[in-house]
Amino acid sequence: MTGLELSDVSYSYAATGRKALDGVRFSVEPGRFCALLGPNGAGKSTLYALLTRLIVAPQGRISVAGYDLARAPRAALARIGVVFQQPTLDLDMTVRRNMSYFAGLHGLSGRDAAVAIDAALDRLAMLERAGEKVRALNGGHRRRMEIARALIHKPEVLLLDEPTVGLDAAARRAITAHVHELAETGPAVLWATHLVDEIGPQDRVVVLHRGKVLVEGGAAEIASGSTLSDRFIEMTGAHEEVPA
Ligand code: ADP
Repeated sequence: MTGLELSDVSYSYAATGRKALDGVRFSVEPGRFCALLGPNGAGKSTLYALLTRLIVAPQGRISVAGYDLARAPRAALARIGVVFQQPTLDLDMTVRRNMSYFAGLHGLSGRDAAVAIDAALDRLAMLERAGEKVRALNGGHRRRMEIARALIHKPEVLLLDEPTVGLDAAARRAITAHVHELAETGPAVLWATHLVDEIGPQDRVVVLHRGKVLVEGGAAEIASGSTLSDRFIEMTGAHEEVPA
């Protein structure tokens, strides 16, 4: 299948020897918004580190757009766009300069890069800010720019690790809506969060808790007879802080 597929992915940090991920299995089809929902310490960031090969050699199999991440890492990584939790923008460069630097890393230059950058900024309603220094943008616009940057090379899989952390309610809502719209245009989107209100009834949901997938399915189906929020609390006790 295309999109993103994980089967039996496990990982233990050498420092603790404890399993941060334990037999994780799920998939995200192209054009789908899938929320990876889990409380703090569930293993979301560890999973993103594996998906982007910041950490290698997990057990199990990860496939990106049909490419095995371990056997064909270059082909697989070339099809991933990623927005990490920590911003990675050069504040003293303009939006466009940041974008063209990144386009260059993907082998795009000149007219091709300019077209791809404009298209990506336009999708996040950021085109009119292209000439501004990143430092002049608020947190929500910086985040939008990072998402636009992750789209330059037209990835088939878009990974976002808690992309609304630190944003106010309005920016959080705007970015959540933008990425839902983006998913409809083709990529398989995996959106890590611990916030149930970022998930729509049509979305897929994977609930991760202490490194294990507790449930995977449609948001409405998981919520059935209750709310997704109540179900999440029932499953994970997420109203209490889970110790890391
Ligand atoms: P989440 O992103 O869902 O909050 P993490 O992936 O950060 O979860 O953490 C999952 C588990 O792995 C936690 O128990 C955490 O303490 C542990 N962990 C995370 N990073 C490290 C690390 N570098 N070394 C050892 N343990 C870690």
